[in-house]
Amino acid sequence: MRFGFDIDDTLINLREHAFNIYNRRLNQKVPVEVFHNLKRVEIHEPFGLDDEQGNEMWRSSLEEIYYTSCPPFPDAVETLQELEKKGHEIYYITARPKEHGERTKKWLKENGFPVHEERFFYGMQDHEKVEIIKKLNLDYYFDDKPEVLNTLLNESIKIFLRDQSYNRHLNLPRIVNWSDLEAIINEKVK
Ligand SMILES: [Mg+2]
Repeated sequence: MRFGFDIDDTLINLREHAFNIYNRRLNQKVPVEVFHNLKRVEIHEPFGLDDEQGNEMWRSSLEEIYYTSCPPFPDAVETLQELEKKGHEIYYITARPKEHGERTKKWLKENGFPVHEERFFYGMQDHEKVEIIKKLNLDYYFDDKPEVLNTLLNESIKIFLRDQSYNRHLNLPRIVNWSDLEAIINEKVK
């Protein structure tokens, strides 16, 4: 089967990593519980930044956010390796900007994710992901953002939200732990 994955906040814990970087760079100590209760994707508000300042903070921290030690979610690497071993095809579809595509691919490989050159797509807007996902004929697609999954509701693909504090209002199938993936697939096959 063909599995598609968003990367940031679906396979890796990017926003929390960025939250820690913000605390350090801004010399603040905003507790992680605040992070876990955020109702929007953007993380800057608890630091007292408005949207414009928040955008600037994200931009100026991006190099560090993307390419340092952002942890994959528990079992994400192992679960994808297992899929690959079983002969499934794994695709990555990330809206990270074009100039970060190749380095992101390299970062994923270095961190143990199974990556095939021709199964890695980047540089599109969130709402454009749907076109690529349709062309790839994926069986499954996983993403954290409601805006992305909402564009796929009418397709035959099985979509799943990666559970996050800002997507709990959506009534869609969701995955909380990557170690649950196999059970989810088996459930669907039955
Ligand atoms: Mg994402």
